[in-house]
Amino acid sequence: MDQIEYPKLGSELLAKQELIRATKGFMPPDEGVSLATALYGCNAATELPAIEIGSYAGLSTIYLGVAAQLQGRVLLSVDHHHGSEENQEGWDYHDPALKDPVSGKIDTLYLFRRTIELAALGDTVIIVVANSQKYGSTFNGEIGFLFIDGGHGHEQAQSDYESWVSKITVGGLLAIHDVFLDPSLGGQEPYHLYQRSLSEGFREITAQGSLRIMRKGSR
Ligand code: SAH
Ligand code: MG
Repeated sequence: MDQIEYPKLGSELLAKQELIRATKGFMPPDEGVSLATALYGCNAATELPAIEIGSYAGLSTIYLGVAAQLQGRVLLSVDHHHGSEENQEGWDYHDPALKDPVSGKIDTLYLFRRTIELAALGDTVIIVVANSQKYGSTFNGEIGFLFIDGGHGHEQAQSDYESWVSKITVGGLLAIHDVFLDPSLGGQEPYHLYQRSLSEGFREITAQGSLRIMRKGSR
């Protein structure tokens, strides 16, 4: 945490280290710190909400939530909590412990709620249990920050982009996770979203691991 340029953010994240280590998920610490730093440093329109697509058990939400809480900004974290394709049985990122024995479905909602509770982020994080595109299409208004980390299939990723990116205010930020330039390292859809944003008026400000963060220009 020493490398963080904002001491207050650094000490708040440090205080959550144990919880971060104990939380299931897919956000390496260096990328989580970059994500939190970008949100915290984004003082354009802190009255506008930040949106996270893909809560899972709340690992990335801790990083974003800590930054949002310090800013007095609200973070809406959206997930249907039944897992992406790669979280289903037979896929690489399946965790059998997350299967609800009654419905037979993956269910991460109770873990997510627990994480928000333990992280003391209940005043900041609004839990939205929904399909991200459906919710995006009914959400009216501008947003200050968007983190896309939901389904990575072609249709899913493109429709997350289409339903949410136009809502980002000028000067606001778009973060995309799992951007792999080399197809042998991972699926290409997030990379395509990243390229699309650069051709549609966004400018890259941060790259850390597979995380890319872009700022929306004024055109
Ligand atoms: N950000 C998390 C990881 C997210 S994994 C972390 O840091 O650990 C991707 C999540 O996207 C899964 O929890 C899955 O349920 C969710 N997801 C996939 N498609 C979705 C959709 N169409 N609507 C809502 N959530 C979706
Ligand atoms: Mg991810």
